[in-house]
Amino acid sequence: MKIAFIGLGNMGGGMAANLVKAGHEVRAFDLSSDALDQAKDNGCKTFMAAKDAVKGVDAVVSMLPNGAIVNSVYDDDVIGHAPDGAVFLDCSTIDVATAKSVNAAATAAGYEMVDAPVSGGIAAANGGTLTFMVGGTKSAFKRAEPILQAMGKAVIHAGDAGAGQTAKICNNMLLAVHMIGTCEAMKMAEKLGLDPQTFFDISSQSSGYNWSLNAYTPMPGVGVASPADNDYQGGFATALMLKDLRLAMEAAEGSDSAVPLSSRAAALYEDFCGAGYGALDFSAIIKTY
Ligand code: NAD
Repeated sequence: MKIAFIGLGNMGGGMAANLVKAGHEVRAFDLSSDALDQAKDNGCKTFMAAKDAVKGVDAVVSMLPNGAIVNSVYDDDVIGHAPDGAVFLDCSTIDVATAKSVNAAATAAGYEMVDAPVSGGIAAANGGTLTFMVGGTKSAFKRAEPILQAMGKAVIHAGDAGAGQTAKICNNMLLAVHMIGTCEAMKMAEKLGLDPQTFFDISSQSSGYNWSLNAYTPMPGVGVASPADNDYQGGFATALMLKDLRLAMEAAEGSDSAVPLSSRAAALYEDFCGAGYGALDFSAIIKTY
């Protein structure tokens, strides 16, 4: 297939390279010339304008920083410029409302579109092991699925337009809460005189079992190997967790959902990021205890 790829940053660069490896012709566009040079090295054809990249394609994939940019790229350069019948896949993490409105604009112009945000970081993007949560009609999902499979290990249809973004922000809101809860419990057990490894051995096999404790233990030298053992470098940056929590808080307000624990988690991540720790893995929030 001929696929336009817009946004070749930390995530998009590896994803586009995996589409090339799967045998697709990838037509790349990014505002950054460094990103375009890298894409060229990875076998993509590069373009100086999105409008040119989308000419004659079967599909457009985007991996962009936020909803305002996704909206303007589709509005200005994709809708009406890609050929009739092309399918659009926006893999960026953006707000649910924008995901729905861009989908509606694409649909009104006769295209099919999915929102397909990802779980998994840069290593998963490079390794082709992302999980995609997909919102859109059954027909749009069916067309997007084989393209996403070339970049991931799991592709799940979440529901109609916007459902992928809903799944993503609700999942990450839950992740923030159980990470903070895990940090609090581990530090309190330690202050009460329990060896943290002993607490891990007990709680990881008891009802305190959760992913942050069992699979991503936030304390160095305790439990499983994780970014904590690497001075909180790599992993999932605190700044990106905060971005997702802000989107979650916006969605909670818009849907009149009560989220007292999650809003407290969002406030704690705001403070932690504001204190200059945005680049560290999100499990580094244990430093505040
Ligand atoms: P990034 O900043 O590294 O990449 C974004 C790219 O988009 C940049 O290369 C930038 O030049 C380009 N860009 C910006 N505006 C553009 C425009 N108008 N036209 C074309 N290109 C444009 O960000 P990233 O880490 O690759 O994240 C991309 C998306 O993936 C975000 O929505 C993020 O929330 C999501 N995400 C990231 C991670 C992660 O671990 N990095 C994990 C899951 C989801």
